[in-house]
Amino acid sequence: MPDELVVPPPAEFAAQANVGADEYARAAADPQAWWAEQARRLQWDEPFTTVFDGSTLPTAQWFTGGKLNVAVNCVDRHVAAGRGDKVALHWEGEPGDSRTITYAQLQDEVCRLANALEELGVGHGDRVVLYLPVLPETIVTTMACARIGAVVSLVFGGFSAEALRFRVEDTGAKLLVCTDGQFRRGNAVAVKGAADAAVEGLDHVEHVLVLRRTGDLTPDVPWTPGRDVWWHELVDRQPAEHVAPSFDAENPLFIIYTSGTTGKPKGLVHTSGGYLTHTSWSHWAVFDVKDDDVYWCQADLAWVTAHSYEMYGPLSNGVTQVIYEGSPLTPHPGRHFEVIEKYGVTIYYTAPTLVRTFMKHGPELPAGFDLSSLRLLGSVGEAINPEAWLWLHRNVGGGRCPIVDTWWQSETGAAVVAPLPGVTPLKPGSGTVPLPGLSATVVDEAGNEVAPGEQGVLVITKPWPGMARTVWRDHARFVTSYWEPYAAQGFYLAGDAATKDADGYVWIGGRIDDVLNVSGHRLSSIELESALVSHPRVAEAAVVGAPDATTGQRIVAFVILRGDGSSEVAAELREHVAQQIGPVAKPRDVVVVPDLPKTRSGKIMRRLMADMTAGRGGGDVTSLQDETALSAVETAWAQYVQSR
Ligand code: ATP
Ligand code: MG
Repeated sequence: MPDELVVPPPAEFAAQANVGADEYARAAADPQAWWAEQARRLQWDEPFTTVFDGSTLPTAQWFTGGKLNVAVNCVDRHVAAGRGDKVALHWEGEPGDSRTITYAQLQDEVCRLANALEELGVGHGDRVVLYLPVLPETIVTTMACARIGAVVSLVFGGFSAEALRFRVEDTGAKLLVCTDGQFRRGNAVAVKGAADAAVEGLDHVEHVLVLRRTGDLTPDVPWTPGRDVWWHELVDRQPAEHVAPSFDAENPLFIIYTSGTTGKPKGLVHTSGGYLTHTSWSHWAVFDVKDDDVYWCQADLAWVTAHSYEMYGPLSNGVTQVIYEGSPLTPHPGRHFEVIEKYGVTIYYTAPTLVRTFMKHGPELPAGFDLSSLRLLGSVGEAINPEAWLWLHRNVGGGRCPIVDTWWQSETGAAVVAPLPGVTPLKPGSGTVPLPGLSATVVDEAGNEVAPGEQGVLVITKPWPGMARTVWRDHARFVTSYWEPYAAQGFYLAGDAATKDADGYVWIGGRIDDVLNVSGHRLSSIELESALVSHPRVAEAAVVGAPDATTGQRIVAFVILRGDGSSEVAAELREHVAQQIGPVAKPRDVVVVPDLPKTRSGKIMRRLMADMTAGRGGGDVTSLQDETALSAVETAWAQYVQSR
């Protein structure tokens, strides 16, 4: 395990950090009282009477008796406090257009849309699905739904009609909000037709609200009179005043579908008071946000990452944000660095898949831009390979920026295992330790904590405010997926394999289903992949276990090589892994591939490759980013098997 390297917080960073070292002990002394203190960072219209009610577990309730409006917390209260002129959003469009929106302007827009939604008959408890790219209006709509108590569900704008339809149908949405078209890697693509196909024959969808984005570039927008409504015709004429009602702390706020790495996506339901408390506090503490920061979370708004750390978290903290519509590589691979330079971004929250992509271009790529405004970096979505961590730290962070590696899930609502950047010494590749107020550990099948360095599964041992309350319309799946395996202990099963080191640091080893068992040795996919990626020839790697008559499973490594050159690297890579981890970890098969199948959020879909090596098929592929990546791997595999 590459845990020798410890990066302590720089002294200057620690001196100015929002949160100090005593926070862990303060929270541990009385977690509920401590969470109540964090809840009071928010504006409550009626104070809560109970902090935590476990009588309905696993659907815990937090801050019952309390009433609040999430949108008021995210927008209005900053205006009321005299910060209306502060920039809320610097929006950068893919073609290079841009807009700047203050908190006062955001409040006007949210109120207008709230009035518009009410005119369309959308009210408390109704579901609204968003099929939108990263636009200010996407955030406005999310906030307007919160304002009127409608339950929002954001669907990635790049999803197919079929994937969208599943979510519209599953939520039983009354309204779908979409654009005429979207910019995708430099092209204007019409999407209204896909939206129409997704709602066709679904009687619960009363209206489709259409925002103009690509205009003349995508003419002849298909139109169903009576159902379809242009945003500019409905919203622009609405008054900018709207009286926000108060809702119970447990009022449903949004439904988020998991990214589908392990199977069919689950629609998790998050509620208001507890979710916002966890999200708002953790955003303030982990990202150390200050009044003069320019914060940028690069995730698409439809991912949970963006819900918590690009919408509800930063807005509730009154932060200035950059949001970017397009692909990170359009029109050139340095686009993100250009945006950082343009806006003087101080905090940049990214994903390992993107870091590995930048690495393929070499350190010259970030070196071409002035990144001196950066003071903190973040990573989320997958375990970050130590190699990628060090590259990011050196070449983007100039060696001075702490990296907060945040482990969390759609289910957890906000970060669970993550450092406090002014306090926690970092170890590249580990999310470090559970945040104050959160209790997570690594246990064996019987629920006992494993010894340091031993593989087990990650569990959260006590309920926490941001936890999902159910799977939409499938409470049984909520119980069986997460709570049944450790029902006796009351632990939440996260589904990730992990180890803890002697300092209590958590190391994620991949999904439970992705753990390999070779001749009785349990090996983590992430550890094997990190060893491969640390070889200079390897840009990306995915490791799966294929069935094997003698060893149970054998290790199959799919690798993308850096640059061109010979693909005769198998022997070298086997030796390299043996040196890094041990002879048992040597991949039996090394298959060079041009691409890897990933989800739309950039996660490697190992299960599809495992199915392929086992001769199984038929797994859920609806969350695949690019089906051609899977076919390319299938072709490479077939050729490899033939030549073996
Ligand atoms: P599904 O549950 O449908 O398979 P998913 O798990 O990919 O989809 P998300 O909730 O978006 O959907 O992802 C959460 C998972 O991402 C975690 O369980 C973990 O495996 C991985 N993950 C996220 N952040 C980190 C991190 N910082 N380090 C390691 N793994 C991470
Ligand atoms: Mg998951």
